[in-house]
Amino acid sequence: MTEQQKVFLAKSEVKAHDLEHKRKVAFNIQKYSDSVVKGKQQYANLEVARMRAKNVKWKTIENLDKYLEQFEKNFTANGGKLIWAETAEEALQAILQICREKNTTQVVKAKSMVTEEIHLNDFLQEHGIDSVETDLGEYIQQLDNEPPYHIVTPAMHKSKEDVARVFHEKLGTDPNLTPPEITKIARRNLREKYVTAQVGVSGGNFLLADVGAVCVTENEGNGRLSTTFPPTQISIVGIEKLLPSINDLQLFWPLLATYGTGQQVTVYNSIFSGPRKANETDGPEEMYVILLDNGRTNLLRKEVRESMYCIRCGSCLNACPVYKNIGGHAYGATYSGPIGSVITPHLNGMAEYKHMSYASSLCGNCTEVCPLKINIHEMLLENRTIAAEQGLNGGMEKVTWALWQQAMLSRRLMNIAGSKMKNKVVNGLFKNSWAAHRGEIKFAERTFNKMWKERNK
Ligand code: SF4
Repeated sequence: MTEQQKVFLAKSEVKAHDLEHKRKVAFNIQKYSDSVVKGKQQYANLEVARMRAKNVKWKTIENLDKYLEQFEKNFTANGGKLIWAETAEEALQAILQICREKNTTQVVKAKSMVTEEIHLNDFLQEHGIDSVETDLGEYIQQLDNEPPYHIVTPAMHKSKEDVARVFHEKLGTDPNLTPPEITKIARRNLREKYVTAQVGVSGGNFLLADVGAVCVTENEGNGRLSTTFPPTQISIVGIEKLLPSINDLQLFWPLLATYGTGQQVTVYNSIFSGPRKANETDGPEEMYVILLDNGRTNLLRKEVRESMYCIRCGSCLNACPVYKNIGGHAYGATYSGPIGSVITPHLNGMAEYKHMSYASSLCGNCTEVCPLKINIHEMLLENRTIAAEQGLNGGMEKVTWALWQQAMLSRRLMNIAGSKMKNKVVNGLFKNSWAAHRGEIKFAERTFNKMWKERNK
């Protein structure tokens, strides 16, 4: 068993029995589900929109090389500077170099899962640069020294009382603050950072190949402040976030909003196409886009290629019975839930993270609720096959399945022992795995074969 798997099992066990945790998460997911029902009402034919979106992403990923080059050409023509980063380390070094050139010790950061993936805050901290999260949920998580719990709602597992407690412990505020008071304090603390930071960092929800621009979607306005106040903007984005054209946004913006938060469209949708021009009043003096691979090209293999269509709406997490029981932190990976379980073994290593693909009931609810109709539960099975083909499951599992197959194919072998003996052998064999969390397996006293014979006597 790998270290990651041990941690996953231990954390899952704790969370699955934590009723208070379940209550908070169920409460927040219910609010989300109610909103999504309303959000979907804006569509005359939602299925057509989903199919169209899937086709656009299919076309994009099948021609990824072409669209990436087109993006580079157009973005640099706008005056932007493009950096290709094959690994997290390359991206981190590029950001550090820019910060050093700008002589800054303060960075403001909009919400971005890619920066979580490369652990940007910790890295900058180690090099004497303070990187502050400006999204309220992320700010709460940063204060509490926790990674985001969910890709869309980072502090979903916290109640308003929990947040007041975090503010009290870390900022010395009143322990009984109300949500508006909490927001006011966060806003006051952050406003000061926007005007002092020399560098602003954001992710990107979409990259537009035809105009060479990055789109950022958010509800608080912090993304806009983080990218337009500091003289230098860095957007770090995964290569799969491409869309062929700015015209595709009319389809993707409402879809992301509906499935992400149940809104018709998110409050702030910005398109950044490069640094401020001579005749413009807003925007950074310099803009960089870092295109990050960091294992994404591994996802191009045909069995899991559809996972690159993901727009990170979080819908599959909210629908997953496993996620709802064990929560986002138990996975021990940046991307949790069903889509995280598909992509993480390819991004971080199949040997260490294959267990995530087994953390599924295979109910298919994730596939059902995905706006892009990504075949998530099938890809979890594909990952299991890949792991088996790579010989990562150990000899014991191979032997067990071979014996099982022999027994299942032979009536004579199945009848060889009585139910008592079968109970003893099977429960003994699975004592530490299956039976550790479930009741004992009980074989019927009379086999089907015996009953059939008796019936036809
Ligand atoms: S896989 Fe689908 S449902 Fe899950 S986050 Fe991505 S787009 Fe949303």
